[in-house]
Amino acid sequence: MTGPRPRPELHSIAVHAASRSGGAPTAELTHLLAANENPYDPLPGVLDAAIEAAGRFNRYPDIGCERLIAALARRFDLPPTRFAAGAGSVSVIQSLIQAMAAPGDEVMYAWRSFEAYPVITKAICGATPVAVPLTDEGYHDLDAMAERVTARTRLIFLCTPNNPTGKAVGRDELTEFVARVPEDVLVVLDEAYAEFVSDKDAADGTAVCREYPNVAVVRTFSKAFGLAGLRIGYAIAPEPVAAALRTMATYGVSQIGQEAAIASLAATDDVMKRVDLVIAERHRMEDALIEQGWPVSRSQANFLWLPLRERSAEFAGACARAGIGVRVLGEDGVRVTVGARESNDLFLATAANFPLEHGR
Ligand SMILES: *Cc1c(COP(=O)(O)O)cnc(C)c1O
Repeated sequence: MTGPRPRPELHSIAVHAASRSGGAPTAELTHLLAANENPYDPLPGVLDAAIEAAGRFNRYPDIGCERLIAALARRFDLPPTRFAAGAGSVSVIQSLIQAMAAPGDEVMYAWRSFEAYPVITKAICGATPVAVPLTDEGYHDLDAMAERVTARTRLIFLCTPNNPTGKAVGRDELTEFVARVPEDVLVVLDEAYAEFVSDKDAADGTAVCREYPNVAVVRTFSKAFGLAGLRIGYAIAPEPVAAALRTMATYGVSQIGQEAAIASLAATDDVMKRVDLVIAERHRMEDALIEQGWPVSRSQANFLWLPLRERSAEFAGACARAGIGVRVLGEDGVRVTVGARESNDLFLATAANFPLEHGR
């Protein structure tokens, strides 16, 4: 074959993109429990702010996201110089890896975890992934991770709560871990689901990043705040890292997204009322599934993890026939989002009819 050829590593990404089934309902799937989206329609005040901003979309957005960063800085009582925003936290994660890791450098994360880590590390950035297995219960194995640090390690991602297993890193184990990691290695807490955490002993990255000069936090407006379609996430990072991220900014975050995020922060009380409803639904689904005999354990996020192994695809097929989209992750398991009550009820009824070999 002649002509321009993209790097062969990029072939692996198509698989990732095609297996996604969030977004708009289709003729077959009307209950979207595959992408951990917020099931509720936009809050009225947030929608108004976005519509108002849409009237000016002939203009470029504020490349520095200054008003949003000022609002975040006030919210967390940290200087604005510690923040950087991007087009979704996936984009912030990509910028972090590009900023910190050259080809040959190592980027560590647990596995199974967020599927974007290997794609961005290897295919997009050409760095070397170091994937450390989770414990059997789906927790980060922080001892094993600390032991895998080498002179080439530049970044360590800790996804907490972990997507897809729903388990959070504990506060004490995190501080012990950070104390063991060399101070030139950046530990990044990916806290996409932080607002859904109800365990009081779970680590809070926004606290830890004040004490340690090599800890960053990545958060998003996509999940609890319900702005997935507007693409907006941010990092709280050590100042030199945050500054590097800001210099890498394109015009990635639309003004519509920025205004919606600012309005969402102002409406945090209403956002958290909805989060409480999701947490209540999570408990209801966990109780029902345990009662049905499923191998499910408690989650700290807005999704549940069913480690169904080789029966994962079969169960997802049963869900699809009922009009429910869930996420199959290889032959490890199925992740199901805690959605609106009606979708959750249909999911529970579908699960009840699925023949399980063990249990029940
Ligand atoms: C959903 C998710 C994100 C957020 O992605 P956005 O780009 O902000 O929409 C980040 N990390 C994890 C682990 C996620 O599951």
